[in-house]
Amino acid sequence: MKLISMLLVATTTLSGFAASNAVAQSDEVVNVYSARKEALIKPLLDQFTESTGIEVNLVTGNADALISRMQSEGQFSPVDILLTTDAGRLVRAQEAGLTQAIQLDVLTQGVPAHLRDEAGHWYALTKRARPLMINPNKVDKADLTSIFDLAKPHYKDQICVRSSSNIYNQSMVAALVLDAGKDKVENWAEAVVDNMARSPKGGDRDQIKAVAAGQCSIAIANTYYLAGMLSSDDPTEKAQAEQVEVVWTDQDSFGTHINISGAAVAKHAPNKDAALQLMAFMITPESQQWYAQQNHEYPVLEGVEWSPLMQAFGEFKPQSVSLKAVGKGNAQALMLMDRAGWK
Ligand code: FE
Repeated sequence: MKLISMLLVATTTLSGFAASNAVAQSDEVVNVYSARKEALIKPLLDQFTESTGIEVNLVTGNADALISRMQSEGQFSPVDILLTTDAGRLVRAQEAGLTQAIQLDVLTQGVPAHLRDEAGHWYALTKRARPLMINPNKVDKADLTSIFDLAKPHYKDQICVRSSSNIYNQSMVAALVLDAGKDKVENWAEAVVDNMARSPKGGDRDQIKAVAAGQCSIAIANTYYLAGMLSSDDPTEKAQAEQVEVVWTDQDSFGTHINISGAAVAKHAPNKDAALQLMAFMITPESQQWYAQQNHEYPVLEGVEWSPLMQAFGEFKPQSVSLKAVGKGNAQALMLMDRAGWK
């Protein structure tokens, strides 16, 4: 553990080479680069170590930075598994040649086909839903049944959403293009920009807080942020979250946008057997249950119970477009948002 931690902060290729060779001799460790925050993954990895005896070395960071790091480490990279919180990043890693195809029955059977790479380069571990969150005193739910309703002129100055530089929004727009076509989505994006209450700023929680503060009446945000606020120790944050209501859009058509968190085995994984064991572990009912109960993310495995807060948000029809296609469409989506003036 200590050796690899030192390696991971080392900056020279030489020390990386020496230490990764040392690591490669044993399958008793698995090295994970994670774009997930440590608190949101570490307890699960500890359970893995407890049940298998395989130690996990965790490096957390920004997804793009971790991908660049894998690129510069090349064949001497110590990383076995890349964890990200958006399909777009997994597709990016795959397209950069940093992943390898793996086939495990538990993954191909447990993860629906639209939530994984068809060749096995990456797999979803959880689903994350991105519905609308409204102030029910200001917005009539019956008037807001489709995400395209956000284009209605009477929502002028009512919408809060984060920047187009955020991959959640890029993926949302890319997915919408797949279901509704580029022209319709581009017109919609222009109208959404017209209806924004403010220039995009902050993260998803900030949009929810802006609704609570009356700066806007509709936000677009992932549900686990709302669940996190509702279960917060901070009474102010909790009270803010209690003022908003989730709206599941497009339930009679293509469904509400979802993205994933997922994992890929690195192309040069020095501990491939251990990596496969960890991949399989993350799709067990127990791990899926942990994600749902602790992180409030939707399990990919059928039949796993949601947390009480997720149950309170309600059942919904999720969008079913291929996340691979969504990832491939991200760059186009960003250009579309740029043209629409979405900052
Ligand atoms: Fe997030």
